[in-house]
Amino acid sequence: MSESYEATLYDGLSAAGRACVAAPTINALEIRFPDGDVISWPYATLALVSDEGDGNRVVLAPGRDADERLTATGPGVFRAMLAVVPSLGDQQPTRGYRMAALTAGAIVAVLALVWAGYPLIKDGLVAVFPAAWSNRIGAEMVNDEAMFDKPCTGAAGLAALDDLAERLSEGAGLRQPITVHVRAGDEVNAFAATGGHVVLLDGLIQQAATPDEVAGVLAHEIGHVKHRHPLKRLIDVAGIQLIVTGISGDVGAVGTMVLMLNYGRRDEAQADSAALELLDKAGIRANGLADFFDRMAEKQKDRINFTGFLRTHPPLADRSALMHGHKPPGATRPALTDQQWKDVRAVCQPVRE
Ligand SMILES: [Zn+2]
Repeated sequence: MSESYEATLYDGLSAAGRACVAAPTINALEIRFPDGDVISWPYATLALVSDEGDGNRVVLAPGRDADERLTATGPGVFRAMLAVVPSLGDQQPTRGYRMAALTAGAIVAVLALVWAGYPLIKDGLVAVFPAAWSNRIGAEMVNDEAMFDKPCTGAAGLAALDDLAERLSEGAGLRQPITVHVRAGDEVNAFAATGGHVVLLDGLIQQAATPDEVAGVLAHEIGHVKHRHPLKRLIDVAGIQLIVTGISGDVGAVGTMVLMLNYGRRDEAQADSAALELLDKAGIRANGLADFFDRMAEKQKDRINFTGFLRTHPPLADRSALMHGHKPPGATRPALTDQQWKDVRAVCQPVRE
């Protein structure tokens, strides 16, 4: 009961959050500000918006239809909230804001502040960005005809990849389920868009020697989704245009940029370590991703022109070493059955003919 957590309160009107401390008391969650202000949110109406980071971060609202959001972080914060409000465990996250909740005031604040690029504001915007917008923007990104070849439609292969994505993302605390898309083309690459949309190119599937390798790459992309890198990138790239994009759903060239730009080393390291965690949980050998990196590094030496995964996914040798050194905590089983692997290899067959 005496625990308290670092928190940020967003009032639903302006994009800037107020730093505060969240302290569970007998009947209410107390939100205490450094200037002595205290707000109480009664447990009776407290709503869970999302829990993330393996229960070490929660987003709460004072009621199911309220616009305010409180982001609280700290070891075991979700469990601590469940201890005082057991019904939070039964709630489906409210999936972010309703569009109408993003009022004119919020838009003006976002325009002014995102444009200036303050990292704190970016975090705030990531916290309140409506899941429905992420999903719609992501769907448009992966359907960008200027960027991608034809969609592959082999039903059995897609179903196998969906199963694999589900196995990998179980317990990852994602806001939305992963949707796997496969696109034709020889390029060895994979992309994560917003809203849980992930694209694998057929070139990557054909270059992979085992299903564990595909699972490793998919886990890495789910790692980007888990850390919300595509949305952060979208906010970086789109800035002021983001609000227009969110409202109209018209992503245009911004979406392509989000997919094409390199992530920094920090983001890649985060995605790799998330991938290891997801592979461990799913009981899939992490060596698959390491093997894949090794082979790609070998081809890079041979000056074969890989425009994709290598360019967007730098220093392969270090990352491969990390994964080869990783010991799975329990028993492992193959990422796919033999039949599923055949189906995945053939997922682009219908559009190749
Ligand atoms: Zn990556």
